Amino acid sequence: MWVETAENTIQQVVSQKPVSFEEQTYGIRLTGIVQGVGFRPFVYQLAHEWGLTGTVSNGPEGVKVVLTTDQTTANRFLETLLANTPPQALVEKYELESLPFCSFQTFKIIKSQAGKLTNGLKLTPDFAMCSSCRAELHDPQNRRFRYPFITCTQCGPRYSIQRAVPYDRAQTTMQVFEMCPACLDEYNDPNHRRFYSQTNSCPTCGIQLGWYTCRQATAYSSSFLHDTHWILDRAHRALKAGKIVAVKGIGGYLLLCDATNESAVATLRERKHRPTKPFAVLYPTLDVLQREATVSVQESDALLSSVAPIVLVRPHTTTSIAPSVNPGLTHLGVMLPYAPLLELIAHDFGKPLVATSGNRSGSPIIFKDADALTELSQVADFILTHNREIVLPQDDSVLRFSSFYAKQIVLRRSRGLTGSVNANGLTSTTSIQLSFGASQKSTFTLLAADNLHTSQYLGDLEDWETQTHFKHTLQHL
Ligand SMILES: [Zn+2]
Ligand SMILES: [Zn+2]
Repeated sequence: MWVETAENTIQQVVSQKPVSFEEQTYGIRLTGIVQGVGFRPFVYQLAHEWGLTGTVSNGPEGVKVVLTTDQTTANRFLETLLANTPPQALVEKYELESLPFCSFQTFKIIKSQAGKLTNGLKLTPDFAMCSSCRAELHDPQNRRFRYPFITCTQCGPRYSIQRAVPYDRAQTTMQVFEMCPACLDEYNDPNHRRFYSQTNSCPTCGIQLGWYTCRQATAYSSSFLHDTHWILDRAHRALKAGKIVAVKGIGGYLLLCDATNESAVATLRERKHRPTKPFAVLYPTLDVLQREATVSVQESDALLSSVAPIVLVRPHTTTSIAPSVNPGLTHLGVMLPYAPLLELIAHDFGKPLVATSGNRSGSPIIFKDADALTELSQVADFILTHNREIVLPQDDSVLRFSSFYAKQIVLRRSRGLTGSVNANGLTSTTSIQLSFGASQKSTFTLLAADNLHTSQYLGDLEDWETQTHFKHTLQHL
């Protein structure tokens, strides 16, 4: 019997059966956001601390723990586990059950059980870079110094790179990158913060940048294809010179230009055929942003969260932002670097950058490299790409806070907010229900039992490419 997580429920589990000190084998099943959040390494470490034997694995419904111990210990272990889950995890339901007796020598993480997404398991969203990875990224002594794809068990892409469940490297677009001995050592070390990190990589074995120069709507590749430092330097110089650079981010390509350069912003508007709709701005740090805009505690918390959305704030009248970034508006959409590649670009530039979805006006964000090279070469002067494939494209999410009660209002649900919807008591007992949102800002919601999936913002269905994108996202589920 599944137990909903709420106050006092742990006590209910403990008291379900009379206490027995006889050893038995127990299974613990947990579902919710439990994959891609460091759950297996967490259970492994906890079981070793407790001197328990058994296994932990991912499956299509979540995480499964098997232990051979006495009933009191099994209940207390579950209680401790639920009270100390990794920060990004959200256990929605759990179950403790008796299994046929099995003897184990030690406690191991074992191979995942394959299968289709079933009720309960939530698709894990992409997480903004964590503070530990940010510190390593800027540490000249660290082997991942200025590596644009640094991640750990607590941060990095998940939803956008996952091809199938359960979450394992082989089911993501990280599959093609084979870990070097140093990365493998971290991956196999229970005391390392990258123990069992499925996105683990480094400059030796990992993702590589590519740089293209666009001339007459054609993208030409550079011979310095894999030189990260050379490419980042080129990007910096181009932005400084008022050029437009298309950058492959987490959910798709973004178009960047100097947000303080009126001529650069006007050129972007002209080439993108977007005369007046406001652009979002990427600030290098919260400090730089706070010098230019009023940012409430709620707004800064959102900007610094693992979702790292665009947040609408009110700029000061003395702002350095070019007038055509948000013409005639009192508010400006701002964000902070959520991916290490964007962190390096924004950090090097030191000033705000326009960061808008790379697409033709009205079409979905471009996420395939071939499309970027043909379509974005008509808009950008340079294209900065990389060789980690994106499976599910997403725009940046957009939030604002109400002026009186500071309540969060989601204006666009996308990167960081997709795949993790609370059903809030909604349930469908007889069939799967599918509902579709408005035509211009389309999304869909799928309700199966009490599991609710709301898709990311998918765009205007007037556009043929948006329709294709809509079908692709629905079929992926
Ligand atoms: Zn991290
Ligand atoms: Zn490596």
